Amino acid sequence: MTQLEMACKGKLSPQMEQAAEHENIPAENLRLLIERGVAVLPVNVKTPSLVRDFRPLAIGEGLLTKVNANIGTSRDFCDVDYELEKLSTALAAGTDSVMDLSTSGDIGEIRRKIRGNCPVMLGTVPIYEAVCRLMEEGREIGDMTPEELFAIIEGHGEEGVDFITVHCGVTQKSIENIGDRLTGVVSRGGAFLIEWMRANKKDNPLFTRFDILLDIARKYDMTLSLGDGLRPGSIADATDIPQIAELSVLGDLVKRSRSAGVQVMVEGPGHIPLHQVEANVVLEKRICDGAPFYVLGPLVTDVAPGYDHITSAIGGALAAWAGADFLCYVTPAEHLGLPLVEDVHIGVVSARIAGHAADIARGIPAADQWDAKMSSARYNFDWKAQAELAIDMDIIHKVRERCPLEDEQTCSMCSRLCAMKVARGKGK
Ligand code: SF4
Repeated sequence: MTQLEMACKGKLSPQMEQAAEHENIPAENLRLLIERGVAVLPVNVKTPSLVRDFRPLAIGEGLLTKVNANIGTSRDFCDVDYELEKLSTALAAGTDSVMDLSTSGDIGEIRRKIRGNCPVMLGTVPIYEAVCRLMEEGREIGDMTPEELFAIIEGHGEEGVDFITVHCGVTQKSIENIGDRLTGVVSRGGAFLIEWMRANKKDNPLFTRFDILLDIARKYDMTLSLGDGLRPGSIADATDIPQIAELSVLGDLVKRSRSAGVQVMVEGPGHIPLHQVEANVVLEKRICDGAPFYVLGPLVTDVAPGYDHITSAIGGALAAWAGADFLCYVTPAEHLGLPLVEDVHIGVVSARIAGHAADIARGIPAADQWDAKMSSARYNFDWKAQAELAIDMDIIHKVRERCPLEDEQTCSMCSRLCAMKVARGKGK
């Protein structure tokens, strides 16, 4: 039985209890959110037996904003141990979820290694593996049979993947206007399916055979993350016809998923200017009946390569404040190359800052309390507590150690002229 089916029957699962404890809310409240489909609890039925100390978390309405870190090999850079180091870095930085987007090497083996070392929810994009296998066999994307694709999806279910990105909304109808775009299609999964449809002169099998996908997802309780294969890849293409056409298809698929007892969330853009971010969240919530919204960024400008962790944190904070539930990190390497370990750290911290800023604005009590504790430690010159409370726990001592201090209680910014001391009559 899936978490959604249990919730609909009024049953509380151990995972619901654990996830509710993390949110500091009664488990019954979380059950009601899952029952309505406005929250998901991605835990493959196989996961508890594959990972020690798995930490189930829920994503959705009124819950803490969650953050995902993408890792995985590429054809230019394939080092499995390095990807495992990225996994440890992302976990240490506090990610709530990891996606393995490997496209090179023994993808199944990499995934199994990541799964065994990943105590948070794990997501994948199965079509990446399908296309990589074809390439190894010297076959074209158009040669892929739907049966091969579904067999790979089933394999991901068998190996404890908690959620999968499936670009079911990339259809012959929704791609009609992509020729009008400045940057065409920027989603790998979306591009693969468009090529498959072109070669076969048929519609997307993930759409036409959605019931098969539902059967697999239900069997393993793999949450479907309905991918945004037509997400805008530039500010010029934001909120355009293909993006909204795809979203409208996803709205119908959300209903079908819920009816089948399958948990579902919806992925979103991409590149969106600040003034369109809130509208994008409203549209998703309206069209997809409140399904949890998982956004990549959004990046609010195209002109800051090397700093896209910042452009996306600005967009992510605004999106989460408006109701987006799950932020996919963007690293400083975005648009430039595969992230290194240090990029992974910066990416997770940046997305967590965005999510937390939104949680404060949304009035989530735990978020406010965290800030109050930090401010109190700051006012009391308790540097140890500040380091423990900081989103990036290492940075406080690193910066303080850069310069000898005249007064150990203060910092080198104002030193003995520390305003917080002087104003309390403690300065000299
Ligand atoms: S020295 Fe200045 S910056 Fe440092 S803690 Fe005191 S008031 Fe803050």
